[in-house]
Amino acid sequence: MAVWVSAGGCGLLSPIRGRLRAGRAAVLAWRVPLRAAGTGPVYDVVVSGGGMVGSAMAAALGHDVHFREKKILLLEAGPRKVSGRLPENYSNRVSSISPGSATLLSSFGAWDHVCSLRFKPFRRMQVWDACSEAMIIFDKNNLEDMGYVVENDVIMSALTKQLDAVSDRVEVLYRSRAVGYTWPLTCHLSDTSPWVKIDLADGRRLETKLLIGADGQNSMVRKAAGIQNIHYQYDQSAVVATLHLSEATDNNVAWQRFLPSGPIALLPLSDTASSLVWSTSHEHASQLLSMDEESFVDTINTAFWSNLHHSDFIDTAGSVFRSAISLLMPSGTAARQLPPSIARVEPKSRAVFPLGMGHATEYVRHRMALIGDAAHRVHPLAGQGVNMGFGDIACLAHHLSTAAFNGKDLGSLKHLLQFETERQRHNLSLMAAIDLLKRLYSTNVAPFVLLRTWGLQTTNALSPVKEQIMSFARPNFSSTCKNYQASATKGLWFAGA
Ligand SMILES: Cc1cc2nc3c(=O)[nH]c(=O)nc-3n(C[C@H](O)[C@H](O)[C@H](O)COP(=O)(O)OP(=O)(O)OC[C@H]3O[C@@H](n4cnc5c(N)ncnc54)[C@H](O)[C@@H]3O)c2cc1C
Repeated sequence: MAVWVSAGGCGLLSPIRGRLRAGRAAVLAWRVPLRAAGTGPVYDVVVSGGGMVGSAMAAALGHDVHFREKKILLLEAGPRKVSGRLPENYSNRVSSISPGSATLLSSFGAWDHVCSLRFKPFRRMQVWDACSEAMIIFDKNNLEDMGYVVENDVIMSALTKQLDAVSDRVEVLYRSRAVGYTWPLTCHLSDTSPWVKIDLADGRRLETKLLIGADGQNSMVRKAAGIQNIHYQYDQSAVVATLHLSEATDNNVAWQRFLPSGPIALLPLSDTASSLVWSTSHEHASQLLSMDEESFVDTINTAFWSNLHHSDFIDTAGSVFRSAISLLMPSGTAARQLPPSIARVEPKSRAVFPLGMGHATEYVRHRMALIGDAAHRVHPLAGQGVNMGFGDIACLAHHLSTAAFNGKDLGSLKHLLQFETERQRHNLSLMAAIDLLKRLYSTNVAPFVLLRTWGLQTTNALSPVKEQIMSFARPNFSSTCKNYQASATKGLWFAGA
């Protein structure tokens, strides 16, 4: 059996060369996690948290050819999400998935399952202001998909199937909560373990060469590592629900209207159903939850259709500016479409989620990396939360795969820091843009409304700018980190971001 040997002080001898010489018997033996004297099994990688991001991370590594001799463990506090028959009713938890994320999921076979289960592509995005006539439209002549609306349960089901497909490499422990982590010294001493120790709630203890924290916004991995999390709660909660349209349509447009109390979005699910994500004040959110179904539907239709927040001054200033733009760029103004009218809400589909922003000041430490909401949490107005998490996976998997191929120590800060730099650069700018949008649109003070009206009208009229933004959206089937990042931002609701 191959053995990990501490190479005097801090270094580690790569086990790969030994394994290659030892042949198949050694490879089979290698798949059984090693057990250091008096401790639990030692894994190459443990992913703590089996939500969409952690499960996708484990599945991506499990399908990576350079990880075929590695032992991976996925720990999930909750039960296995059974991937049986899909319920007839749509779930109220859905995500807008960018083509970049679909590419990542395709790279290890999960997107095929999504396609065979249930999803809805959208080919146009219309975003408009409730305080003026300003709007922006994204489309590719209705020819290319701008993104996909997928139920979170469908994504989980697809990921579970792909985890089952590599069960010889990826062990999954459901109902297994990690309750403590012990970090190794960066410089290994002979009487201490060089690995991260993980204590489970049931008393078991495991060890790993690399711990990936994918345990959500309240990440215990992040807290145990003492990593600072810059965070705050927004003055908004998101109300979600499954809605039925008054009549069947192609329903391939994602709609979002910025109301002074927060954005209301309608994501297509089928020709006759859409998913609501309405970010609004906490008080209004609880009212929306408690009102009868008919009033709820009326309130949604009013939110999309009413001009209650318009003022003559802004309307006049906006229309003068729009006329000037249409004179200068006659092809630069697109016709506004009307959103579909809602007929009824799926009973018991309403739910509310408090919203916040959070960012870990560090994504990595020696033998540890944070991904997904454990590293960053954003407002859902741009539909980017899980897409950013999938971007983390593409990047981290790329660096780990290279490290594994080169026989390097997976937990080494060298490549983990490359992951951190690339992802923080990407995530921070996106988070800043989303936060700015949230603030810019949370007011109906005239100068701000005018500023954003003109900004939106100008962006909408400048086809090259919109092209540039949409170029991020083109499906890209290369799995490298940088290429993934280029396409991962596609699917932003609002072009200005
Ligand atoms: C209303 C709303 C709408 C949204 N819409 C979109 C959208 O359209 N597009 C988009 O990209 N994003 C969207 N998001 C964001 C997206 O839902 C999140 O970014 C995503 O779910 C985060 O996934 P995650 O796996 O990182 O974390 P989580 O989903 O929080 O998963 C963490 C997992 O870790 C497990 N866990 C926690 N602690 C432990 C422990 N100690 N031991 C073992 N397991 C543990 C938990 O059980 C959980 O399963 C939306 C969010 C909201 C609230």
